[in-house]
Amino acid sequence: GKKLDLSLIRKKFPVLDQLVNGKPLAYFDNAATTQKPIQVIDALKSYYENDNSNIHRGAHTLASRATELFENTRNSLKSFINAPSAEEVIFTKGTTDSINLVAATFGKKYIKAGDEVIISTMEHHSNIVPWQMLCEENNAHLKIIPVSDSGELDLQAYKNLLSDKTKLVAVVHASNALGTINPVKTMIDLAHEQGARFLVDGAQSAAHLDVDVQELDCDFFTFSAHKMYGPTGVGVLYGKRELLESMPPYQGGGEMIREVTFAKTTYNDIPYKFEAGTPNIADVIAFNAALSFINELGKDAIRKQETKLLNHAFESCSAIKGFIPVGTASDKVSVLSFTINHMHAFDVGMMLDASGIAVRTGHHCTQPLMNRFGIEGTVRASFAVYNTIEEIDRFHESLTRIAKRKN
Ligand code: PMP
Repeated sequence: GKKLDLSLIRKKFPVLDQLVNGKPLAYFDNAATTQKPIQVIDALKSYYENDNSNIHRGAHTLASRATELFENTRNSLKSFINAPSAEEVIFTKGTTDSINLVAATFGKKYIKAGDEVIISTMEHHSNIVPWQMLCEENNAHLKIIPVSDSGELDLQAYKNLLSDKTKLVAVVHASNALGTINPVKTMIDLAHEQGARFLVDGAQSAAHLDVDVQELDCDFFTFSAHKMYGPTGVGVLYGKRELLESMPPYQGGGEMIREVTFAKTTYNDIPYKFEAGTPNIADVIAFNAALSFINELGKDAIRKQETKLLNHAFESCSAIKGFIPVGTASDKVSVLSFTINHMHAFDVGMMLDASGIAVRTGHHCTQPLMNRFGIEGTVRASFAVYNTIEEIDRFHESLTRIAKRKN
């Protein structure tokens, strides 16, 4: 396989080259958001310096340039997830917005009183609350797939929950809190056997795993640009054409219409039907540079580097007295979640920060999952392609020191 030149990669990320509390920054909060390479920052700057214009309507040159750049990102995304067509790629504000879109529109049309929606114990709040709201509104029922001690979904329990009442299953591809990669392909096939639709929350998989929506045969796939080296404020909803065409619009406004009269409004074709108003043009355009960054490195090489980092971190930290990993599935993205005996996760995080090491602490927007493990939260180190073994050794050293403290 391809070998990555890490020092070359790191040079592309200006933010990494700084001292934090007098120590070189080791940024291990990538599951929350990744840093941005210079190509993405340059694309933003270049857009505002040269091309800024509203899209899809102007008669002038800048408008057509901006429109072309915007639609180029949609085309790149079509290839990135192997969607059958670019029209099935809808721009949103993020994964949260994508899921809310599906809950509001698919939910309105297809989820009726007595129907069931299945999610899992390891969902992010953004893949729980919209379904709770929908079920409450439509008198439908929310069913929950349990999680094992190792942080894996109980597939037998899932099979038992599925029935002809199930209208939708919404499950995370890779858990932000544990790193677990779920067997979504198998789960999608099982859902389809019951006539249910399947939404994959790909917020934590899109940057790390190969995603082929046709091979998965998922009905919806959602993700966020900012977790994959792209800008904040941009998300994607992939949906199957027949579904998107049959669903009512999300928001009303400009761009999503074909013709408006006071008697009746007709709606635009997909994807525009779901993109009311002026979108986040600059960030969508810069997102394309992030996709190129990932494509140039290759997902295989990225995954290899990240797995090496995760294994090294897990093995070295497992030797620390009081270190308790949370989520020990064999198939994981590069997330190391843990607690240290008798210590508050937040305190551990603050002490790591004093050594220039950035981690996240708390419930990671997965409170039901934390309840399942009987804990309030974890310390989470999540690695990206630009992280190094040296950084992990520093992390291990600091953690060893922290775990020895008595409080
Ligand atoms: N799902 C998962 C698994 C996530 O990790 C996140 C982000 N932490 C989200 C959904 C929500 O993504 P966003 O905040 O970008 O809308």
